[in-house]
Amino acid sequence: MESVDFLVVGAGVSGLSFANWLAGEAAARGRAPELLVLEAEAEPGGYCRTVARSGFVWDYSGHFFHFRHADIEAWLRRRMPSADLRTVAKRSFIRYRGRDIDFPFQKNIHQLDKEDFIDCLYGLVFAAAGQGAGGPRSFKEMLARRLGPGICERFLFPYNEKLYACDLDELDPDAMGRFFPHADLADIVRNMKRPEDVSYNATFTYPRQGAFEYVRALLADLPAGALSCGEPLISLDLAAQVATTASRQIRYRRLVSSAPLPRLCRLAGLVHDAGAFRWNRVLVFNLGFDRKGPSGVHWIYFPDRALSFYRVGFYDNIHDGDRMSLYVEIGAAAGVELDIDRLRERVLAELSAERIVDGHRLIDWHSVTLDPAYVHITSRSLAETARLRATLEAAGVYSVGRYGGWTYCSIEDNLLETRALAARFAPLL
Ligand SMILES: Cc1cc2nc3c(=O)[nH]c(=O)nc-3n(C[C@H](O)[C@H](O)[C@H](O)COP(=O)(O)OP(=O)(O)OC[C@H]3O[C@@H](n4cnc5c(N)ncnc54)[C@H](O)[C@@H]3O)c2cc1C
Repeated sequence: MESVDFLVVGAGVSGLSFANWLAGEAAARGRAPELLVLEAEAEPGGYCRTVARSGFVWDYSGHFFHFRHADIEAWLRRRMPSADLRTVAKRSFIRYRGRDIDFPFQKNIHQLDKEDFIDCLYGLVFAAAGQGAGGPRSFKEMLARRLGPGICERFLFPYNEKLYACDLDELDPDAMGRFFPHADLADIVRNMKRPEDVSYNATFTYPRQGAFEYVRALLADLPAGALSCGEPLISLDLAAQVATTASRQIRYRRLVSSAPLPRLCRLAGLVHDAGAFRWNRVLVFNLGFDRKGPSGVHWIYFPDRALSFYRVGFYDNIHDGDRMSLYVEIGAAAGVELDIDRLRERVLAELSAERIVDGHRLIDWHSVTLDPAYVHITSRSLAETARLRATLEAAGVYSVGRYGGWTYCSIEDNLLETRALAARFAPLL
């Protein structure tokens, strides 16, 4: 049997960044860590992968990077000296009844038709006035209480129902955490006179060669031979601290996993409340056309329930491409069969109806289904995640990342989490 000090499961941003931070901690002590990263897929990157085809560069879904911590961004950038990184001031809209309203909807209701505006404002004023004691029970109730029926029924309910593919009443009030653009009555009225975008990604960076450049940066300093792709973990003996793959058994001192938490529990035979873990899938179509389409826009949100997609993004407007290059995102419930060819035809017809495709010829396309994509954060999932992570940790197993932590986060959050974990392990090096 082989043995290793640190076994990492998953070579997405979380697994790879943990390996890097740990190597950095070890190097500071004049050591090299005994480390192995197992990745189920044939290539690293997880959801941060990029496909380059027919002159188009597509991610698994539009992945744009916003950093709140300058040191994290600098750490990454040092590892990618030759990448062509562009910093972009976001231009995003909501298409509502044929009009493009600035994002976020709730702060730009003055851009609506007069009747819609009055309805939204009326609902907002009385929602704000009517906030009673006690917190909201659910995400849906939080939205309704804060923003009122006008805004909720026009945008927040239909859009989020399309995205999450579930009843919003099932989600925790804080299901979107800091990613929800909160605004109160004063913010909204102020924005009518002095528009400002203070959303978490008002500016973002993006490499010309796609999101995978960030993964490449994380691969650059990985100790030689530390990564094994195409080798999934297939079972885990928590008591013996032994991991099994199709070809070997590996004894570890510490195991760090970014595999989805319920999957890890199944592999470890750990009793868990499987019903606490629910999620949506996101089907992404990347579409490349023969010529330019709309300009001056990076992505558009579509709350219209009649349309299959909830968001369409324009890669060509980020890096000044001369041919329209789109990503189209469709939310679906887990387990529902997706007919890719039929949906692609539907998407193309809907893009024409929305005047995004206007006689363009499709040159190439690609699709990928992210499963899980957005986890459904509920009080039950929060409690079960905390319990399971504590149980695993007591056995030397750390479940991290977007799906290991069963949460809503960005890659910067993944980097911060794994940096803190590597620092905790420093005494073991
Ligand atoms: C639609 C969408 C859009 C997003 N957009 C952005 C954005 O614009 N900006 C941003 O910062 N973040 C964005 N994110 C979030 C970002 O994708 C994640 O934070 C990040 O990619 C998560 O990395 P991870 O390593 O935690 O998980 P993953 O990328 O899921 O990596 C986990 C890895 O574990 C592997 N694995 C699973 N099971 C096993 C096993 N049994 N054995 C071995 N390996 C296994 C998987 O193959 C995978 O490679 C977006 C997410 C989604 C879903």
